[in-house]
Order: sequence, then structure tokens, then C-alpha cells
Amino acid sequence: MMPNIRDYIRSIADFPHEGIIFRDVTTLFADARGFRMAIDQLLHPYAGIPIDKVVGLEARGFILGGALAHQLSTGFVPIRKKGKLPGAVISEAYQLEYGEAVMEVHDDALKPGERVLIVDDLLATGGTAEAGIKLCRRLGAEVIGCAFVIDLPELGGRAKLEQMQMPVHVLTSFE
Ligand code: IMP
Repeated sequence: MMPNIRDYIRSIADFPHEGIIFRDVTTLFADARGFRMAIDQLLHPYAGIPIDKVVGLEARGFILGGALAHQLSTGFVPIRKKGKLPGAVISEAYQLEYGEAVMEVHDDALKPGERVLIVDDLLATGGTAEAGIKLCRRLGAEVIGCAFVIDLPELGGRAKLEQMQMPVHVLTSFE
């Protein structure tokens, strides 16, 4: 039988806190067939659609985003946690379960009108991706979609992004 993307994802109980099941994509990335399958499936809906830049969300979005950008022959732009980017940035804060986090992008990383695809490994509450979309939009770019390997639908991220009129592409979901 054809292997499924889920076969390559490892689940680790009680990480980073008791009661959380962490979906670990390092096992997917480490497998040549699994990694290629993930990249091919992430790209599938965008065949023939013009894309100027791939935007990756720290940190696992960088691994996927680099491969997607290479495949699409586009540039790659990182959105990073606060304080990591060396140049002038714009920032977007978002709520975590406890407290707040801030994502940043270089203020010259995207040009007005550029069409971007945002990528990350996993969509949970959607807070990280929402911050990424807002940063791209503040630079005048058009986010044509967000792609994730994994969706956790119970946490509502997909619904939140779709309320922002954002097309969402996921390869698999875990309840
Ligand atoms: P959200 O902002 O609540 O949607 O959380 C998504 C972010 O948290 C992404 O950047 C993920 O990489 C990370 N994340 C949350 N839970 C997991 C997990 O179980 N596995 C891998 N990454 C996770």
C-alpha cells in the first residue's frame, strides 16, 4: 500500500507539557520519501497559480518553505520570533494560552502586490499564522493561501483563517 503522510509523523505524549500530544515532523523530514511526498502534496493546489514568494513561519516552516521556494523558483522570506531578525522589522503580537508572543518580518522583505504563500508544519489555534498573514498584508503583499502539513481542527485555527478569507491547505489532521 502507498505510504500515507501520517505514517511518517511521530506522536510524543506529554511534550512540552503533561497532557499534550506533540506531533513531531522531524521523522517526516528525515525520510527521503516522506519529505518529498510532503513537499509535492503541499504544492498540489498551487499548480499554475502565480506565486512570487514563499513565507515560512519559524522554525519548521523554514524547512518546508525553503524546499517549496526552490521547487517554485521563488524567493523565500522568514517570519521570526521577536528579536531574531537583524534588519529593520515590523511586529505583530498575538495571544498564547498563557501570555503573548510576537512575530516579526523585515520591513523590506515583501513588495506591495507580491503574491505570497505562507507555510508552517502545524495549524493549532491559528494565532501564529494569523500574525504572519497580518505582517504580509501590512507590507502590501497578497497572501494567496496558507499551507500546513498538520491541522488540529479542535483548536479552531482553520476556522479562524477562513474567517479572514484565507484559503487553507492541510495534508492531514489529528483530533
Ligand atoms: P498556533 O499558533 O496555536 O496555531 O500554533 C502553531 C504553532 O505552534 C506552529 O508554529 C507549530 O510549529 C507550533 N506547534 C504547536 N503544536 C505543535 C505540535 O504538536 N507539533 C509541532 N508544532 C506545534
